[in-house]
Amino acid sequence: MRTLIRNGTIVTDQDVFQGDILLLDSHIHEIAEHIDAPNAEIIDADGKYVLPGAVDIHTHMDLDVGIARVIDDFYTGTVAAACGGTTTIVDHMAFGPAGCSPWRQVKEYHRLADGNAAVDYGFHGVLQHVDDAVLDDMAEIAVQEGITSFKVYMTYDYRLDDLALMKVLERAKREGILIAAHCENHGIVTALRERFVAEGKTQAKWHPLSRPPEAEAEAVNRLLLLARVAGDAPVYVVHLSSRLGLEELRRAKAMGQGRLGAETCPQYLLLDAAMYADPREGLKAIMAPPLRGEEDRGALWAALSAGELDTVATDHCPFTFARQKQQGAGDFTKCPSGAPGVEERLILLYSEGVTKGRITLPQLVKYACANPARVAGLYPRKGAIAPGADADLVILDPEKKWTLTTGRMHGNSDYTCYEGMEIRGAVERVLLRGKTVAHNGAFTGRRGDGQYLRRGKSVLCS
Ligand code: MN
Repeated sequence: MRTLIRNGTIVTDQDVFQGDILLLDSHIHEIAEHIDAPNAEIIDADGKYVLPGAVDIHTHMDLDVGIARVIDDFYTGTVAAACGGTTTIVDHMAFGPAGCSPWRQVKEYHRLADGNAAVDYGFHGVLQHVDDAVLDDMAEIAVQEGITSFKVYMTYDYRLDDLALMKVLERAKREGILIAAHCENHGIVTALRERFVAEGKTQAKWHPLSRPPEAEAEAVNRLLLLARVAGDAPVYVVHLSSRLGLEELRRAKAMGQGRLGAETCPQYLLLDAAMYADPREGLKAIMAPPLRGEEDRGALWAALSAGELDTVATDHCPFTFARQKQQGAGDFTKCPSGAPGVEERLILLYSEGVTKGRITLPQLVKYACANPARVAGLYPRKGAIAPGADADLVILDPEKKWTLTTGRMHGNSDYTCYEGMEIRGAVERVLLRGKTVAHNGAFTGRRGDGQYLRRGKSVLCS
């Protein structure tokens, strides 16, 4: 099958230019100023941007957090992804039963995702305790499954202590595995939560105060110093939310540390901790780390503009407001943590980032498509418009104006944190390996058409 995408404004992470793209079956075959392809199906992209399919390397489909299970499974969550222009996800696994091998969750996640996902998908492994067998399993999983990144948590019940982190980092460096870390200081968060609950301070407004930027910055700093001692072990800070945390990254880089990357998310760029003031509405944005203030948002946008961060992912972790989030009514510590976002990310970054001059078009592609693919070891198969790459493409109408509202979203959650936001630009058509999977806000793909991605080494490991 030949498909010609004609007259589009092609956007890569390097460049913006007019041209045609010829697809041959599932791959990009040729890119040129003008291509004649008599028998090809024509998609007219005149006046539209053509971007690589977006890559979201932080989602939580079908996540079981013990007190609740997220409302999107691998089908509904990837339908939402597709409609938002995201053609690849790399999902962070839930913890398994205490003491289990990391293989247990790898198998569980194949069971959840295989035959269900509507876009291409990979997994990050998860480490919830550390011993020699777990480290051997990590190395084996990387080779056998192409799961070349593993997540560690510095807070929550399955947090790793410094000794465990050191062992993980030393082994990961040897094996060329990227360690992604949730960075919050557990002592700070626990002490503050206990104090607030004891004092009856259980409304949503206490949530951000229980997880201050200092908790993030301390953990980022510790992770990076441990990685430095482990011989510049490759690390990736997920969902960076604060200026203080960002300063720790800068310091590590200034000291010459090279194998480190960091991700932020649209919620930390666009939403304000003032959302927590309303005890009911505030539950929608209970997540960890929490929303911050204007100064933090400004610092994160400036870091994107300056190229100091690597990716923007979503941490898509949706619960229902009507039911699941209400577990936190009266006590924020009982609220399942997370919010939807996989469908909103690309258009928010375009509308709020590009059209408002905070980032450029190539930077949009860099943060939403190319760099996530590089960090995940998927580039240039994903995240690139180049001959030989998968024909994953987004055709974006730059001028269309619309209002972001729950009714237009495709995931299972009953709310969006961006309700009522005026959006400029719209995802018009999305192709996954040459096939249109979303068109004008409707899903046109199929359950199970997403392929499992065996990933190569992260660019952060080189
Ligand atoms: Mn997460």
